[in-house]
Amino acid sequence: MKRHDSGINFDRYAIGALTVIALRDGYVDLPASRLRQPDNRPFNSDLPTEVELVQGKLRLSVNVYLVIDGDQHVLIDTGAANSWDPTMGLLPHALAEAGVNQNEITTVALTHTHEDHGNGLVAADGSDTFPNLQRLLVPKEEIGLFDDNERLLRFRERRSPITDAYEVSPHITARAAHGHEVGHTAYEVSISGETLLIWGDIVHVPSIQFTRPEITWGADANQDEARATRLKLLHRAARPDFHVAGSHLEFPGVGAVSEHEGSYSFKPF
Ligand SMILES: [Zn+2]
Repeated sequence: MKRHDSGINFDRYAIGALTVIALRDGYVDLPASRLRQPDNRPFNSDLPTEVELVQGKLRLSVNVYLVIDGDQHVLIDTGAANSWDPTMGLLPHALAEAGVNQNEITTVALTHTHEDHGNGLVAADGSDTFPNLQRLLVPKEEIGLFDDNERLLRFRERRSPITDAYEVSPHITARAAHGHEVGHTAYEVSISGETLLIWGDIVHVPSIQFTRPEITWGADANQDEARATRLKLLHRAARPDFHVAGSHLEFPGVGAVSEHEGSYSFKPF
């Protein structure tokens, strides 16, 4: 993998013949009580010192990834647009800065249906963010959650359920990574012996969840399953020619994982 160029809100990489662009949607500040010890207890005065806080809160970057595989522009997640804190919703600016026209995006694949991942399908002005959208891929287990989101009602007729091993494009494959949400899915980009796993919400707080992957997130739908999935994917990622890209890793959120005695570290690319 090679970095091609970058700007304030994007980083562009080449992996084999493919292009991957990390796009900044923004960030969200959340209380440290979202972090959970293995018995689902929040930390209090015992918050580990390595947890990084910004004005007393956890600052989560919100990242989106575009993979250009031949003539297909596949956007993995969409950010929050104007549906949550005003610190998010930069995606259209980030695309413009990277020289990508919103009309070029024909496929959107969601890692899961939470609002910071799917709500950017509708722009702040109420229009479709991607007017030429042909395929909207949603993990099968979350079709009900997707259909319950009133902001996205217009997409009910257009969303397609996908399952593990679904081939999004010649070099992008869906990988079930359930736990954070019932259908949470990673997207594996694989070409020329290199792999980039765009893993969604496997890690929310990089300052602690690599070194102590047993620590979970209050919004994990199934804490035990989320923990097991994180351990499995970290173990899998810790190998040569393998990179990960995470929705909430510090922007651009692309890097390599290494393992030492049950603990992991993340090296930004
Ligand atoms: Zn998220």
